[in-house]
Formats: sequence, structure tokens, C-alpha cells
Amino acid sequence: MINRILIEPYLGYHSRLILNRSSVPSSRCPIFRRISKFCKQFFDDNQTAEETTQTGLSLEVVPRKDHSISRRQMSENAIKVLYRLHKSGFKAYLVGGGVRDILLGLQPKDFDVVTNATPEEIKKLFRNCRLVGRRFRLAHIVFGRDVIEVATLRGHHVEHVEHVEQVSKTNAEGRLLRDNVYGTIDEDAERRDFTVNALYYDISDFSIHSYGGGLEDLKSRTIRLIGDPNTRYREDPVRMLRAVRFATKLNMTIDKGAADPIYELAPLLKDIPAARMYEEILKLFFNGQAANNFTMMREFGLFAPLFPLVDSQLVDEPDGFTAKMLQAVMENTDIRVRAEKTVTPAFFYAAILWYPLSQRADDIALESGLSLYDAYNAAMGDVMEQQCRTISIPRRFSTPAKDIWQLQLRFDRNQGTRAFKFIEHPKFRAAYDLLLLRALAEGGSVAKSAAWWKSFVEGGEEQRNVIARSANKGSRNRNSNQRRRRKPASKKTTKPAE
Ligand code: ATP
Ligand code: MG
Repeated sequence: MINRILIEPYLGYHSRLILNRSSVPSSRCPIFRRISKFCKQFFDDNQTAEETTQTGLSLEVVPRKDHSISRRQMSENAIKVLYRLHKSGFKAYLVGGGVRDILLGLQPKDFDVVTNATPEEIKKLFRNCRLVGRRFRLAHIVFGRDVIEVATLRGHHVEHVEHVEQVSKTNAEGRLLRDNVYGTIDEDAERRDFTVNALYYDISDFSIHSYGGGLEDLKSRTIRLIGDPNTRYREDPVRMLRAVRFATKLNMTIDKGAADPIYELAPLLKDIPAARMYEEILKLFFNGQAANNFTMMREFGLFAPLFPLVDSQLVDEPDGFTAKMLQAVMENTDIRVRAEKTVTPAFFYAAILWYPLSQRADDIALESGLSLYDAYNAAMGDVMEQQCRTISIPRRFSTPAKDIWQLQLRFDRNQGTRAFKFIEHPKFRAAYDLLLLRALAEGGSVAKSAAWWKSFVEGGEEQRNVIARSANKGSRNRNSNQRRRRKPASKKTTKPAE
């Protein structure tokens, strides 16, 4: 059980011995406790550094002189918050991604702070503080657009507590519904998701506290869960998505223990509140790693529970229009994010749901006899509503997404002199971008239409006049084609293979 590991110098850290690499909490095992105590004494006598938490998670404390993190690499506001807490007699640590990313030489996305002050105590210390969250009660210290998130150290779940609001609550699948039990830094570390995130920078002496071999995993580029993977994923299935996100973002490998249970537990994502999923999806697809996250999510079966309509088309026809569209959308989003161009969920959802929408419209037209145009309009509400069951897309994005869909139906009719007015539509640009992606996926008549619009959009005034007039001449032919039924996107794949 006990596993001694020699940690090699890490980014300037001295080698040191730590005990018990196992991250499975084992406080309930008396034999383990006795062996652990014996080993602790043995190594203490031999003056080697080692510590474990009560539940057996290893802890390494690296003093300032032995690591490379300096306050200059942190945001001024995070330092202000850390010092205010520290000077008021509270413990204060920078934690998680802030420490991890600085050690990896990356620019942290945000700086998270933990303290032993309660949310109410934090609120009293900072005028610019607002308390948020029910599941996790947190303090947000607001500096204009910069927000420093301050959490109170989380403890273990207890059965008897004085205050009801301190109780943690789980559902039948073991998912944590509320988690506001406060505790020590050791307990807090045991509640974190991955070892590379269980890194704390202590403002009182500038040391780093690394739990569960976090520093070593950073070095070997391993995403390892803290605790028993099955339990930790059931407590919060979103951790499965986080494993994928960190693996791609940090170019790390998900350790086998953390990877294997995902295949079986992925369907648990269905039960996560749709509002939370909306935020998680943004983090996965708008962080410059959309294509890699999409691929890995599909490999693990994490995509299907969140995007059931899209996934069933991908399964039916692995090289079909939907697959091509998804690949193009993910790659385009990555290119835009990396070039620091704007990306909007309205376009993203309009594009990935376009073929499920086409399929639904075809079905409605067949069943009801409506024109395809009217069937599309009827299908828009259906498809959006179905998608929002798993990921709640705010109306400020679902409404323009529908506009983008609507405009797809009008591209053909608006070739010619009407095009001058049509391109003034506020959603024209997004709709045109979707038309170009459809042209790539489908070719054929859509590619022809896209080519016409491309020359019109990119042409100068004189050229546009010529293009528009020539289209008007041929408009009779085009209009007669316009209402011809499109072949259903994935219908052809639903036939069983011979
Ligand atoms: P980034 O900000 O780059 O996405 P991060 O690691 O800082 O990465 P956050 O979502 O900001 O991620 O969370 C901050 C820290 O809170 C994490 O590092 C982790 O320790 C902890 N944490 C966040 N979400 C969970 C979760 N679902 N389960 C357990 N711990 C979590
Ligand atoms: Mg963070």
C-alpha cells in the first residue's frame, strides 16, 4: 500500500521524499493508519520531508527558495485579495489553475483564491464583494471587469451539523447537489478534482502545498483524479468533461484510472442542470481546443448525452454532411479564438444543429404536407427546444441562431438585385458564413449558391451590379427549382447495410 517515491527536481524544486502516492482516502482503515504512523516516525527520524493528510493523500510543501513562482506572475488584484485576507488573520492561498498554469509557463485564465474565512467574513472585508452560488457558496471580489473568486476551504461531508445550510446533499446517483461544508486545507485538497489542480500557493510564507503528487503529475503531464474515480465522477459527472478539457488544454494524458470509468459513466451527464452545461460547453468549445475536445468527447461517449440530435446523425453517417459540418465548425472556431476574433454561441449552435434541423423539417414536410419552407420554420422551435433540454442556450443566442437558419432559406430567392437589401440584414454575415460551411459539406447546388454569394459579397460596386443583373435574367429558372425538396441529410444512412 505504501509507496515511497523520490520526486526529482521539478522546475527548480529540490528532490524530496514523499509517502503514500495512493490518492484513495483510507482514514477508515486502522492497519493503514498504524503503518502510516510508523513510516512517518521512521522518516521523521531520518529527517526526510514527508506528510500525508488524515485520509492518506500525500502532501509536499515546497518552500519559496525551492520553486519558481513569484508574485509578479499573478494578477495585482489576486495579490490584493490574498494580502487583505492574510492581514486580517485568515489563511489565504492561490489555488488550482492559477498555480498550475504559472508552473507550466502558461498565462492563467483566472486566479482563484481559497481561505478559511467564511463567505460572510469575506463580505465584511471587501466592499466590492458579492456572494454567489447555491451549490458552492462563493465570494466574487469585483475589480471592474476582473473578478477574483474566493472560496472557503471545503471540508468533508458530515451527518450531524448545527446549521442546515452547512449540509452537503447528494442525489440517488451520488451527485452532490449542495456542498457547503467548510474545513481545513487538507480536506479541501481531498475535495479537488485532479492532482494538478490541488496546488496551493500560501501567501503567508510563499510556499507551495502540493497534494496527491500534483507537482510530479505536472511534470509527467498526467491528469489523475484525487480519490476513487468512480465516486468522484458520480459526485460530479462534469469532472469527466474537465478531464478532457485539461488533457487537451495542457497537452496531458488522462491516467488510465481516471480514463477507464468514463466510458461507462458518460451518460450521467444527462442529469446535469442544463444551465451549468451551457457554461461548460463554452469552456470546451471556445477555448481554442474545440476540435480536439470534440474528438476526445466522442471517443469517450461524452458528446452523445449532451448533443443527442447531432450525435445520432454522426452515428448514422460517420462521413456525412453533419460530420463534415462539425469538423469545419470546430476548426473554424479554433482559428477564430486563436486569432482573438469574436465567436458567438448563436453561430456555433446554428451551425452544429443545421442538419438535425434539415432532417426534422423533412420529417415534418412528409408527415404534414407543409411546404419545405414552412416545415423548416416549424422545425426550428422543435430542434432548439430539444437541444435546450441538455444545454440551456440563452434566448439572446437561440433567437439569432434561428435568424441564421431562417436566412438559409432565403439565399436562393434573394440572388439578383434583391441581394443589395438582403446583405443589409443584421444576421447576413453569420448566415453567409454558415452557407459557406454548408457548401463545403454538401457541394452541389449549395456550393453553386455559395459561389454566387461569394462573388457578390467580395465584389466591388460595379461588379455587384453586373452579377445581380445577370442573376435576375436567370431568376425564372432558379425560382422554379427553389421549392424542390432537398434530399434528407441523414435519411439515406438509416437504411440497414445490405
Ligand atoms: P481554468 O480556470 O484554466 O479552466 P482551473 O483549474 O482554474 O482551470 P476552475 O474551473 O477555475 O478550473 O476551478 C478552480 C479550481 O477549483 C480547480 O483547479 C479545481 O481545483 C477546483 N474545481 C473546479 N471544479 C471542480 C469540480 N467540479 N470538482 C472538484 N474540484 C473542482
Ligand atoms: Mg480557474
